Amino acid sequence: MKLDLTEIVAHLGKRIRYDIDEPAIEDLGGDVAGVSSMTGQVTFTNTGRHLVTRGSFQAVVELECSRCLRKHRVELDLPIEEELPIAGRIVEPGGEEIVEELPEEEKEPLFVDGIFDLTEFLRQTILVALPIKPLCSEQCLGLCPRCGKNLNDGPCECPTDVEAGPFAALAELMEEDEET
Ligand SMILES: [Zn+2]
Ligand SMILES: [Zn+2]
Repeated sequence: MKLDLTEIVAHLGKRIRYDIDEPAIEDLGGDVAGVSSMTGQVTFTNTGRHLVTRGSFQAVVELECSRCLRKHRVELDLPIEEELPIAGRIVEPGGEEIVEELPEEEKEPLFVDGIFDLTEFLRQTILVALPIKPLCSEQCLGLCPRCGKNLNDGPCECPTDVEAGPFAALAELMEEDEET
């Protein structure tokens, strides 16, 4: 959804509330398989230099466990805290209104000419909030480095003496990698 905020941009002190009800996103980008529909609330308040944007939203994402590769669902409840810059307005003595240009570095790419790209904003907010190495559970046992079996489903047939196995060095590397 793209929100037309031109009305509130034009009126200092004006506030509007919007109920977020966005459809599911099939492809979120990154390693995320998908996102459920998103619901929540957000308010925009015109404070003169910014639209102060506050609220929260809920979504369910499907992630792949970094240890066992199994897909699992994570419920998200994320805050929305953003300041959308708006151009200042100066009223000339003659009553004529001049809109100041925003400096390039202050411009918000998701907020152009009073139109706010809410869907893209929520998508980026979710991506930033996700763990770099998702786990289906803190206790996830991962995959056997020798046969590849998901050890959460029970032990495999491999000898327990991993050190003797051809993948011992690899297993150790994986261990170290996970600790960092
Ligand atoms: Zn796992
Ligand atoms: Zn095994």
